[in-house]
Amino acid sequence: MKIILLGPPGAGKGTQAENISNNFNIKKISTGDLFRSHIKKNTELGKIAKEYYVKGDLVPDKIPTGMVKEWILNQTDNGWLLDGFPRNIKQAESLNMILDSINSNIDAVLLINVNTELLIKRLLNRQTIEKREDDNLNTIKNRISIYEKETNPLIDFYNEKKILCKIDGNNSIESVFNDIKNHLKNK
Ligand code: AMP
Repeated sequence: MKIILLGPPGAGKGTQAENISNNFNIKKISTGDLFRSHIKKNTELGKIAKEYYVKGDLVPDKIPTGMVKEWILNQTDNGWLLDGFPRNIKQAESLNMILDSINSNIDAVLLINVNTELLIKRLLNRQTIEKREDDNLNTIKNRISIYEKETNPLIDFYNEKKILCKIDGNNSIESVFNDIKNHLKNK
């Protein structure tokens, strides 16, 4: 099963990606985690990404697209999950081209919706625990607005392909995961 997780920052994508990956035994890639790791190690890619990351801006498409392409082309199993990619239509179109080139496709796009007030509350709370550099109020607001402008159009993009499943992410982690399992059962 090949799955994409969509949703605003703070929707719980990382947590549910972990749950799905463990429960369905499929590999996952999180572009945000990869950037954090590069930034921590201060690699050349990390130095470039950091400029955008700390402001909550999207890293130029070429970089995440290249990382995801390399990862997908190296997968030997017939299942994977993308967390944090694609983030805009251009990335989604590149992903389609990558998948077409290997005769592959996406089975499900899970959209986790959470109301904005709760998102901000969760992200500020996460800041006190994980100390992520991009979890301060200004950056959070920028990330949410970029999500609305850049990532929201993907909802129609995947809805038209009849692979979009909407999940209510305002509930508990367990309840959200149950919903996800119910959706994936029919895939
Ligand atoms: P995340 O952990 O998914 O919330 O991502 C954290 C940050 O990493 C984002 O605010 C962007 O700066 C960067 N990032 C992650 N994924 C992408 C992507 N697909 N395209 C561009 N930037 C990304």
